[in-house]
Amino acid sequence: MSLVYKAEKWMKEKMFGCQTCGQCILSHTKMICPMNCPKGLRNGPCGGTLDGKCEVIPELDCVWTNIEKKKAGAKDLKIHLPPKEELLNTASYVNLVNGKDKATRLPHDFVDTRHIAASSKLADKMGRGEFVVTLEIPSPLNPDGLSRVEKIMARTREHVDAVNTTTNAGGVPSLHSTETGKVVMDHGVESIIQFCGRDHDKDDFLGEVEKAMDMGYRNFLLLTGDWLPQDERKVAQQTWFPMDSSQMIHFANQQLEDWQSRLGTVPFVGCAANPFSSPMDISVERLAFKRAAGARFCQTQAITHVPTFAEWYQQVRAAREDDPKLTIPSLPLVGSKKLFQVLCRLPGVYVDPSLHAIMERDDFQRASLDWAFGIAEGVIEVGAAGVHVMNFGMPPAMIDEFLTQIRGRAQEARTRAGLQFQPTKV
Ligand code: SF4
Repeated sequence: MSLVYKAEKWMKEKMFGCQTCGQCILSHTKMICPMNCPKGLRNGPCGGTLDGKCEVIPELDCVWTNIEKKKAGAKDLKIHLPPKEELLNTASYVNLVNGKDKATRLPHDFVDTRHIAASSKLADKMGRGEFVVTLEIPSPLNPDGLSRVEKIMARTREHVDAVNTTTNAGGVPSLHSTETGKVVMDHGVESIIQFCGRDHDKDDFLGEVEKAMDMGYRNFLLLTGDWLPQDERKVAQQTWFPMDSSQMIHFANQQLEDWQSRLGTVPFVGCAANPFSSPMDISVERLAFKRAAGARFCQTQAITHVPTFAEWYQQVRAAREDDPKLTIPSLPLVGSKKLFQVLCRLPGVYVDPSLHAIMERDDFQRASLDWAFGIAEGVIEVGAAGVHVMNFGMPPAMIDEFLTQIRGRAQEARTRAGLQFQPTKV
């Protein structure tokens, strides 16, 4: 262990809570060490920040909220790459002098790929301004569970444009998205395949996306990922995630031209956003950052309060009137008191008192379905591109009722609001 390393560690631990990543970006983060984020994010907060607190350790302030507050809205549309492992626990001053840290210390420009059209039916529909319905089906824990996915698809395939086949929902290990996606694809419906930065490094991730495209998948939702429930919650480099969502989006975006010429297909890359993450302006900036990185559509965290979504969406859309509308708000259909508690415990989810009150009623399933229609119409009237349906224990007949009625209601809501969607290439 070199003297320089020891001296740097001693001094920077005291001054900045340094975690000795060896590729120091303090000069880009207002002198707040980002490696005190339990996930090790180097490009901004995850979507789970509520009231400026950390999603993983709620007793702590979100490190990135503090950085963004100090930046006071100064736009920084460049990206930091994941730290190099071989530089961890080495002297960043030495790495600065010999240049070993250059690739990961200095931020990189984004690539503009807007001229390359995505090859997905979902992208085409959204580009034409058609209302889209997506459905969340968590991947089962083992192959036996695929028969349940089969049954859901047999009932719903006529009514949905794409299905998110979620991997490791709630942090519980499951089959991968691509395995569940096969059942969805067999029913003639596109899947939205999910990858988490928590679970992959760059090479592994790009290889997996290419493999998934080879299997016929076209839509990809790229997320940082929640903390796994069984993992100890701590601030330490051993627990940093290999990548964050914006790095994944950036890496995929850099490959688009190559994939187009070599494979003849271009993935439709999406990201997540949380309108209830607060402060709201940081959530809005975060989505703008992911869009600059290459995200073309966005699915939100569960929406339980229309005015908050409306305010957030207005900020997201400010000065972008001519851009396509590509935000799909998530809508919880809650038909079980037990699963309502699960919804309430999900990281970063705000559950409005109106839904709590409904869950106290004897006829809570019917009231909850009516509430969901109300939320859906509310978000559509302010311009949402569609809705993403998440089931929390609603009986199949009531899900079907929602899916068979929602397009008609969406059309009425758009007419009421005087909305016109212009076709645009995505
Ligand atoms: S960015 Fe890295 S080197 Fe700089 S203070 Fe944080 S952990 Fe230490």
